[in-house]
Amino acid sequence: MDRIVVVGGGLAGGRAVVELREQGFTGMITLVGAEPHRPYDRPPLSKAVLSGRTDDTTLPLELDSAELLLGRRATGLRPGVLETDGGPLEYDGLVLATGAAPVRLPGFDGQRALRTIDDARALRETLRPGARLAVVGAGWIGAEVATHAAAHGVAVTVVEAGASPLLAALGAEIGGHTVPWYAQAGIDLRLGTAVAEIRADGLELAGGEFLPADAVVVGVGVRPDVAWLESSGLSLDRGVIVDEWLSAVPGAGPAGSGGTGYRPGSVVAVGDCAAWWSRRYERRMRVEHWECAQESPRVAAATLLRSLAGGEPAAESADVYNPVPYFWSQQFGRMIQFAGLPGPDSTLVLRGDPTAVAPAGAKRAPGWSAGWFAPDGRLVALVTVARPLDMVAGRRMLLSDVSPDVARFADPDVPLKELAAQPA
Ligand SMILES: Cc1cc2nc3c(=O)[nH]c(=O)nc-3n(C[C@H](O)[C@H](O)[C@H](O)COP(=O)(O)OP(=O)(O)OC[C@H]3O[C@@H](n4cnc5c(N)ncnc54)[C@H](O)[C@@H]3O)c2cc1C
Repeated sequence: MDRIVVVGGGLAGGRAVVELREQGFTGMITLVGAEPHRPYDRPPLSKAVLSGRTDDTTLPLELDSAELLLGRRATGLRPGVLETDGGPLEYDGLVLATGAAPVRLPGFDGQRALRTIDDARALRETLRPGARLAVVGAGWIGAEVATHAAAHGVAVTVVEAGASPLLAALGAEIGGHTVPWYAQAGIDLRLGTAVAEIRADGLELAGGEFLPADAVVVGVGVRPDVAWLESSGLSLDRGVIVDEWLSAVPGAGPAGSGGTGYRPGSVVAVGDCAAWWSRRYERRMRVEHWECAQESPRVAAATLLRSLAGGEPAAESADVYNPVPYFWSQQFGRMIQFAGLPGPDSTLVLRGDPTAVAPAGAKRAPGWSAGWFAPDGRLVALVTVARPLDMVAGRRMLLSDVSPDVARFADPDVPLKELAAQPA
């Protein structure tokens, strides 16, 4: 009987188990997860768990037919054998779903990040009225942590090395429009400020200033958790390199590692750790987005099962993983959604007024959106702030390479769905 081992017990690993069964695999499935928990959802950690609305985000996945080896870490890989800290496991097929781990900064060993449910529960305990919290990084996680901490009466300082929040994700202009949100929430946002060292009692800033804090959260990004694969013979480059069908690409491998000993399609990668070849964008992509962890296992499971059945894993007729990246965040009482991939030569077009203030009697300012247009007129990326209908229509436009009339796009009173039917 064939055995498939899934490494990583997050959303992508759990979804891989479900997809393998739904696609007809009747052999043995073993899921190896370093955390002691069954697969759980991470987006609510910086939202509903921090705010105290829930304490349990376990995913409702049907995993009863799989063997779950939780609290067990994979340590190495060769063709047919996964090494773990609890001994080797033989496999016929392997799913790599080890996700990503937070980047740490120099200094205090016990510095906090927010990646796991245990991180979220521990952080919530420190968010007491009057406590001082320093957040390093005004990215997605930093903004969400700051939102909930400030709402709990915590004195929050956010220290960001870049010139605006969300700089890497959305660029300076869009990120800049979120700056007033921090002040409105009573948060001290310090832009262009680098941190020299994390200390147990605060932050030492690059200029020499010391910022005292009762708790420090570092939110400066994540790196795919693939260091354990370094001598596996698989190709790695900020993730596991996989093709359009999510099949791992063996590299030359170190001498004797058998880099070419992997049967094509017998190792696939999904979720945050997968660096796939995008047919849509003709480049390698790796994203840390929930939707990728949710959707990529469908394609990876099909590839793996074709390989186990002796078929062609990279079959032209088979589905490739070819998404338009999508991400959402809830911060400062606003839902931000982002989809697509802006290019260096894209032109940004606003749809609505990001500087508008809340009308009398309203709690919030009106929503707005912005689109990035390629030189040939195609809409290539879209951000929406409290305008969910724009995102519904916008995602359809991004999928079908639409070139909307820019003047009509810029008019927030024109429903985007009216523009969704204009082919490039
Ligand atoms: C606080 C937070 C908020 C987020 N909010 C959003 C959001 O609003 N919108 C959005 O689109 N995305 C959001 N994300 C990102 C999204 O949650 C991730 O993209 C998604 O969880 C990735 O799933 P994954 O299964 O690929 O990886 P992970 O969830 O990282 O799971 C990987 C698992 O593998 C385990 N593992 C690692 N190495 C090994 C090993 N060697 N052996 C065994 N197990 C191992 C890890 O411990 C982990 O449990 C958020 C993430 C976080 C942390």
